[in-house]
Amino acid sequence: MAITDFERYPLTFGPSPIHDLPRLSRHLGGATIWAKREDCNSGLAFGGNKTRKLEYIVPDAIAQGADTLVSIGGYQSNHTRQVAAVAAKIGMKARLVQENWVDWPDPLSDRVGNIQLSRIMGADVRLDKAGFDIGIRSSWEQAIKDVEESGGKPYPIPAGASEHHLGGLGFANWAYEVERQEKELGIFFDTIIVCTVTGSTHAGMIAGFAGQDHPRRVIGIDASATIEKTRDQVGRIARHTAELIGLDRELRDEEIDVREGWAGDHYGIPVESTMEAIRLSGSLEGMIIDPVYEGKSMAGLIELVRTKEIPATSNVLYAHLGGQLALNAYSGLFR
Ligand SMILES: *Cc1c(COP(=O)(O)O)cnc(C)c1O
Repeated sequence: MAITDFERYPLTFGPSPIHDLPRLSRHLGGATIWAKREDCNSGLAFGGNKTRKLEYIVPDAIAQGADTLVSIGGYQSNHTRQVAAVAAKIGMKARLVQENWVDWPDPLSDRVGNIQLSRIMGADVRLDKAGFDIGIRSSWEQAIKDVEESGGKPYPIPAGASEHHLGGLGFANWAYEVERQEKELGIFFDTIIVCTVTGSTHAGMIAGFAGQDHPRRVIGIDASATIEKTRDQVGRIARHTAELIGLDRELRDEEIDVREGWAGDHYGIPVESTMEAIRLSGSLEGMIIDPVYEGKSMAGLIELVRTKEIPATSNVLYAHLGGQLALNAYSGLFR
């Protein structure tokens, strides 16, 4: 099998745009930084990285005769908002378990931003007190049973669409899309920077790039603050996805490059480097990033460029995975 052998249900506008970040690059005084914009990839409720994963999962849901997508995330999950949008688009229902993943005192966190949009799009949104965990949850398994018992046909999609056998394909495809865009642009990105939490975004990229002629670094910046779980999950999904798309070798351990140092102590809680990253992207480039995910991966990029761990001769591609809607639940920041 190759990536092109898998059925893809188009939910994006086509390739996501790539552009340079000249003022940020000059400010940091090192590598040349570019961004590929998954936040601008779709007409579905502001898009983001989960939409691309769902392109490869929806055909399976349709083939199984499902009528309800059942998924899980935090109150401000970008993933569940994208599941709600896709369900609306394809004429299915969405049943969403929204857990209390972030201990951040904002009185509107269960009402604004992502969760508000999910409700607008008709999803059945249920709040759950449980805290952060990227693994398989009993509340989600219960939701699947509930849908069944009420006569529906559930289709389970785990947190971030990651622990799903097709979850890595969306970003394996992204790797080939980048290769095509590089030819058009006449550039080669030797380093990719991507935020990683539930893991299949980073994992898919690793698997996709591994089969290409020119090796490059694909650095995942952990934003889970549970680094061992995320690193394990990235490795497992990358190896599974590599096998699915017919990579004819084993991935090496050093190809599973998940870095820690910018997540702070807790998922969803911004630290000083997150705040600097959000300010710099916004004030130098008008590019908005969030305090949960992209603020942390951008903080990693900034430090790796400043310390020349990424050399000044590099062309770096920052994967902007979306997530800005969560800013609504951080009304205390930037006052
Ligand atoms: C889900 C998400 C991530 C992390 O992607 P995973 O595939 O879960 O590792 C990063 N950024 C944003 C905005 C997200 O919504």
